[in-house]
Amino acid sequence: MILFKRAGDLHKYIEEQQRNDLKIGFVPTMGALHPGHLSLIERSLSGNDRTVCSIFVNPTQFNDPEDLRKYPVTIEKDIFELERSGCDVLFLPPVQEIYPEGTDKRLNFDLGYLETVLEGKFRPGHFQGVCMVMDRLLKIVSPDNLYLGQKDYQQCMVIKRLINLSGMDKTIHLNICPTFRESDGLAMSSRNLRLNEEAREKATIMYRSLLFIKSSMYNMSVNNVKAEAERMLTNAGFRVDYVEIAGADTLNLIDSWNGDKKIVALIAAFINNVRLIDNMIIN
Ligand code: AMP
Repeated sequence: MILFKRAGDLHKYIEEQQRNDLKIGFVPTMGALHPGHLSLIERSLSGNDRTVCSIFVNPTQFNDPEDLRKYPVTIEKDIFELERSGCDVLFLPPVQEIYPEGTDKRLNFDLGYLETVLEGKFRPGHFQGVCMVMDRLLKIVSPDNLYLGQKDYQQCMVIKRLINLSGMDKTIHLNICPTFRESDGLAMSSRNLRLNEEAREKATIMYRSLLFIKSSMYNMSVNNVKAEAERMLTNAGFRVDYVEIAGADTLNLIDSWNGDKKIVALIAAFINNVRLIDNMIIN
C-alpha cells in the first residue's frame, strides 16, 4: 500500500493511473476503521483497478468541539487493517493539506431542504463541513467510483447533491453500501469505541427500536409508532435527538403512510454522551 500525505503527490499518482485507463475507487473515512469501513474497501477492490482510502478527521464537520476532541484515533491499527485488506493507497493528509487557507474560510453549498431536517437541524453547519471536505477530496482523487455507507443516510443524500451541484456526476458513480452491524444489531461505528460496557449493552435498543418501527408501521399510526420507539429509547437511558420517518428518496417527514412508497426510519440519540445514529429502510 502506498501512503500519501500530500494532495499534489496523490493527484499526480491518480493522473498517471487514469492515463493508463485504470479505474479508481475511493472510500473516504475518518479512521478508527471497523468491518463496516472494510466492507466498502472490499466493494471498491472488486470493482476498480486501484482503491484509495482516505483517513481524515475533518474538523469543519464537528459542530461540537468536544466530539472532535474525543473522536477515536487508531491509526496504526487502521494501517495494518488496510494493508491486510489489499487497499492500494492510503491518503492521510494533515489539516493544512485539505484546508490550505485555514478552516475558518467557509464555503457555502446550496443544500436546500436537506440542511434543515434531521442531522441538518440538530448539527448546524455539519453538512457544510462534510461538503467542504468531500469537495476537496473528490477533486484530489477524481474517482470513477465513490463508496459511501447507508449508515449515514442523509450524508449520502447530501454528497449526492454536492456531486450533482459541481457537475462531478458525469464522471463519478456513487455506490451506497449496506450498513454493517454487530451480532446484536448495533450499527458499527467508530464512536462505539467510546461506549462503556453498560452503554454498549443498551446501545442495541436503537436497532430494536428500528425493528419495532418496521414491524408496526402497517398497524399503528405514524405518530404512535414514533412515540413508542422514543419511549423504548428513553427507558433504556438514551437522550433522543429525533425519531423520524421520512420518504426514502426525499427525506420529507411523513405523518401518515398507506404502505405505498418507500420510507426510511431514522434515529439519533445519545447514550452516555455518545451520539449514535442509525436508520432502516421500510418497504
Ligand atoms: P466515517 O469514518 O464514520 O466517516 O465513515 C466513513 C464511511 O464509512 C462513510 O461512508 C460511512 O457511511 C461508512 N460507514 C460507517 N459505518 C458503517 C457501517 N456500519 N456499515 C457500512 N458503512 C459504514
